[in-house]
Amino acid sequence: MILIDGKKAAAELRQELKHEVTDLKAKYNKVPGLTVILIGDLTPSQIYVRNKEKSANEVGLKSEVIKYPDSVEEKTVLEKIEELNKDETVSGILVQLPLPKHIDKQKVIETILPSKDVDGFHPMNVGNLSSGYESSVPCTPLGCYLLIKKVEPNLNGKKAVIVGRSNLNGKPMTQLLLKENCTVTITHSKTKDLKAECLEADIIVAAVGIPELVKGDWVKKDTIVIDVGINKTDNGIVGDVDFDEVSKKAKALTPVPGGVGPMTIACLLKNTIECFKRSQI
Ligand code: NAD
Repeated sequence: MILIDGKKAAAELRQELKHEVTDLKAKYNKVPGLTVILIGDLTPSQIYVRNKEKSANEVGLKSEVIKYPDSVEEKTVLEKIEELNKDETVSGILVQLPLPKHIDKQKVIETILPSKDVDGFHPMNVGNLSSGYESSVPCTPLGCYLLIKKVEPNLNGKKAVIVGRSNLNGKPMTQLLLKENCTVTITHSKTKDLKAECLEADIIVAAVGIPELVKGDWVKKDTIVIDVGINKTDNGIVGDVDFDEVSKKAKALTPVPGGVGPMTIACLLKNTIECFKRSQI
């Protein structure tokens, strides 16, 4: 069984991106900039943002975090985004989710210029991705995609089963694998026989939020299994895949932690650099 090392893959990607930033700096005399807006004091969000900032600095991006208290008015946030949209030193804007209830998430997402939307959540980017055009791609599925390609560069005709249909993970994952000529089945909470669907798969991507949902007898040998889940349990953090069981069956599997998670941030940096490059044309 191949244990897909997301930490190592992310470190390699950051190294590549660091070289790219050096080259861009030599060519344009400026570097891509990432601005993150953090609202409130949720501990997980603070940790994510700190890690994003650290990684951005590591690859040489210009990075800035703008913090607001929970009580900030929606108008203040939208005005700040408008200001950042016009700022040429800002290549990418990310508003850390979740947001306080009084702030309309969709309004925030749609205020970010599609060309600076490093999360790939703007409807324009969602549409472009599903039409097969150039777009920002949500960071977690992009990371999953890069990990799958490391194990299996040619995905032509492979059967992929995506468990979970969220806008954040399942749906964009489907589009990425369709582009690679996979035959993709997207499953969800109303799917009749999830085990039977998974047993057909050459690739399984589980993004559900249910601890150890995918079992060993749901998986063929030779299946590549990507576990997106991050679930807090009494036994610590576990994924959506039963690691002990599935690792005995699958061809390749991502661990949790140390699989998809580290790739998500590296892909955010990659998206920022892509936004910068597109803005220079
Ligand atoms: P979500 O709650 O938005 O979506 C979950 C999906 O799972 C839904 O489409 C639902 O239909 C489906 N589902 C629910 N119960 C099911 C069942 N019994 N069988 C089949 N499908 C079922 O979740 P999300 O935002 O996509 O996140 C999924 C998981 O991924 C969570 O554990 C989250 O913490 C994790 N996550 C990890 C990263 C990372 O960087 N590794 C990033 C984002 C999310």
